[in-house]
Amino acid sequence: MSKIVVFCRKVSIFFLKKQKKWCVLLFFNKNGLSLRPNLRTMATNVSISDAAINLLKQMIAIPSVSRDEQAVADLLEDYLKRQSSVEVHRSGNNLWLIAPGYDTQRQTLLINAHIDTVKAVASWTYDPFQATEVGERIYGLGANDDGASLVSLMHTFLSLEKVPLPYNLIFLASCEEEVSGQNGIAAALPLLPHIDVALVGEPTGMNPRIPGGVRVAVAEKGLMVMDGTAHGKSGHAARNEGINAIYLALEAIGKLRDYRFAKESPLLGPVKVTTTIIQGGTGHNVVPDSCTFVTDVRTTDAYTNQEIVRQLQELVAPVELVPRSVRLQSSGIDAGHPLLKTIQQVAPAATLFGSPTLSDQALLSCPSLKMGPGDSARSHTADEYIEKQEIRDAIFLYTQILTHFKF
Ligand SMILES: [Zn+2]
Repeated sequence: MSKIVVFCRKVSIFFLKKQKKWCVLLFFNKNGLSLRPNLRTMATNVSISDAAINLLKQMIAIPSVSRDEQAVADLLEDYLKRQSSVEVHRSGNNLWLIAPGYDTQRQTLLINAHIDTVKAVASWTYDPFQATEVGERIYGLGANDDGASLVSLMHTFLSLEKVPLPYNLIFLASCEEEVSGQNGIAAALPLLPHIDVALVGEPTGMNPRIPGGVRVAVAEKGLMVMDGTAHGKSGHAARNEGINAIYLALEAIGKLRDYRFAKESPLLGPVKVTTTIIQGGTGHNVVPDSCTFVTDVRTTDAYTNQEIVRQLQELVAPVELVPRSVRLQSSGIDAGHPLLKTIQQVAPAATLFGSPTLSDQALLSCPSLKMGPGDSARSHTADEYIEKQEIRDAIFLYTQILTHFKF
């Protein structure tokens, strides 16, 4: 590792034993980012960032679409076994590490990011499965979502392994996030100790180089997919008979479109209800006796998913409306939570926002927030990329947050 030789508020000079070279770190203070160098952790950040970036490039080269993450999980397991001094736990394609000094009397912070990607869209101009470096940018599938957060959080954990912290720290690399799969974080959580709060690494635009650029999602919408069925009575279209199920379904869909829930979330706004699929009828001369439709419901912290189901079912009755699952709840963290307070101490100009997109937070029952390098707008798009500096900044900020945090 490294040895600090000179250290003051502005500059730190140290020797990297492995690379046999001297390094100088300059600390700056701009855009409200309060950089408070931590003597124990900052000295190794240059080599740690290089390691994180190298690992990201290796990950990109291994296709890891949801439910097919074994090869990338193998790579990470092998890497962690070589780099970490603590036991590497694995169940399926989920991997986790518990920092030394775990104590049931103390509260636990989980840091988490996911290892799977969506499928590559057709319009990639770079090879999605090869890390292509163009200046500061690294192009490749999963570079932004969620490889950058994963390698940044992992290397922050590795750099803090030997640092005594006043709380328990667990790092979890989870699979099947993009499909909210049963084998992902949902399968790992019961195997982990109790979690009190979680920081989920996702591309939220955590950029300390622009004013208000450290963006933290303090609330996230939940999701329910609901199947609707209208039952009618068949008959001949030429005669005045039957009950047209398509008309019944249209009436219900209209009610769903116009319904306004009484309560709105201050951060996430109203619950959003959108009918996206409809199917019915067998022939032009047959009054349809059945019509089905699918409604996408983006839920907020103003209601539980179960409360929303009850209201919508009453609204459209006797048309049936059944949720496929109610497990993807809206999530978030209180304004006064010590983790959020610490982030605001480290980055006083941080922007707090409510996120419309779903993450593994939906499956956590504890308070949680989402922050990570990159930009959500680059996720799931052709030529997704991350800037190397975004990873360096992320490791720096995560390290600052974790070393200053206490419950
Ligand atoms: Zn993601």
